[in-house]
Amino acid sequence: HPISKASYRISITTDSPFYALANGKLIRKQTRASQTTWVYEQTEPMATYLATIQIGQYEHRQVSAGPVPVFAVHPPRLRAAFDIDFGRQPQMLEVFGKLFGPYPFADYTAVVTDDELEIPIEAQGLSIFGANHCTGRRGSERLVAHELAHQWFGNSLTLGQWCDIWLHEGFACYAEWIWSENSGGPSSDQLAANAYQGLRRKPQFLIIGNPGPAHMFDDRIYKRGALTLHALRGVLGDEKFFELIRQWTTKHRHSTVSTEQFTDLASRFTDTPLRPLWDAWLNQRLLPRL
Ligand SMILES: [Zn+2]
Repeated sequence: HPISKASYRISITTDSPFYALANGKLIRKQTRASQTTWVYEQTEPMATYLATIQIGQYEHRQVSAGPVPVFAVHPPRLRAAFDIDFGRQPQMLEVFGKLFGPYPFADYTAVVTDDELEIPIEAQGLSIFGANHCTGRRGSERLVAHELAHQWFGNSLTLGQWCDIWLHEGFACYAEWIWSENSGGPSSDQLAANAYQGLRRKPQFLIIGNPGPAHMFDDRIYKRGALTLHALRGVLGDEKFFELIRQWTTKHRHSTVSTEQFTDLASRFTDTPLRPLWDAWLNQRLLPRL
């Protein structure tokens, strides 16, 4: 269950040509005959669903020294494409670090598998992308930003109940828009307007604050969750909004969170009652006005 976070030690034994990766720091690597054992230690508390092992004929290299070291793990054939598609991760770390508060882990690794993956997925301290997300055309940068943002929203601050999934996906989707407006792309106002038009064309039967297991990862949760934050930002203004986000990530670093904790914290940043905003965006089916 996501509330029972723990530290982990993960040991993997593979045939030696393979590179084996798990969450945390590599503390031991030992080759005996034709096999190699890799031992990783994840000291920060981690929810079970964020534990991962990745094994492949991979190249492993550090791509940025920066305040947060960034690593790449991918098949050698994807090296040049990786440097284009994932080349702006250090800038993302800088933007997110400034707006969301310090990056919560020791380092960050982007893994690209040799196979195609329908969608990328976050794990603690790393994210996993498919070869189709690494084509050298920077076509998946939105997703590169999304998975990185999960290190704050989802991995460091993890929901205690799955009905609060918007605290992960709404925030990570909003981080895509924040990256866009801070990197010369469309503003979050423009992206919010686009997302809103998209949602208006779809059936409105989901409750964002409690979508049920069948719709947890429905795109409408992502978009409407992000719009909820955009509406809140409109009420608070940029300065207070980002101060709220930084307090949120600091106060609950490496722990479990709920929607109620977020709405309580937000209420301290304004005299305007926020209850109508939460009700309209999170608890009602029909889309409110943007
Ligand atoms: Zn996500």
